[in-house]
Amino acid sequence: MQNYKVLYIDLDETLYPKTNGLWLSISDRINQFLVHRLQLSMRDAQALRQHYLDTYGTTLNGLLIHHDIDPMDYLDFVHDIAIESMIQPAPELREILKQLSARRFIFTNASVQHANRVLNHLSIHDLFEGVIDIQALEFINKPRREAYEKALSLSGNPNPNKCMLFDDRIANLYPAKELGIITVLVGEEVQDPAVDYVVHSMSEILVKIPGLK
Ligand SMILES: [Mg+2]
Repeated sequence: MQNYKVLYIDLDETLYPKTNGLWLSISDRINQFLVHRLQLSMRDAQALRQHYLDTYGTTLNGLLIHHDIDPMDYLDFVHDIAIESMIQPAPELREILKQLSARRFIFTNASVQHANRVLNHLSIHDLFEGVIDIQALEFINKPRREAYEKALSLSGNPNPNKCMLFDDRIANLYPAKELGIITVLVGEEVQDPAVDYVVHSMSEILVKIPGLK
């Protein structure tokens, strides 16, 4: 049976359900940032955001390429939301994470400050060795291949075949698969060459994926 050494786990909409409203709130803050800082109408802001997301993987990456913005100003602004009303402790998830034998890192395009807030509200912060966030990635975001290479290097260069990536976005699984990392889509069932396993939520991982304990 496979024994995994390192698990890279996405944060937003992977560790908590899409339905809790958190991502919608962040999404609204991103739109507000574009409206206020770039002086756009809401309609133009939404169109620009979609364009940056499709072209560069994140809105921030598009902003850094095309506009003179401070990335920390952006990250603080978009994560300034009332997460305590949307994220509650997750004892079931905690019990599952505690049973995993591999080292665990959060691997996110968000900031470490946002990740720590979410992990603390889920009451699972102590179960991760570290957070590989957008600053640690030097603003090279998923799904750029260098982000995954950086994550491997920041965690001591384990054999990619002994590593697993969990993410709710299929586009984020492709570079991992190319590097030899085992991939898990957290979402709806799909047949795709980049997807090794699918779980509807992290609460299913022990029953659907062998070799994690
Ligand atoms: Mg996500």
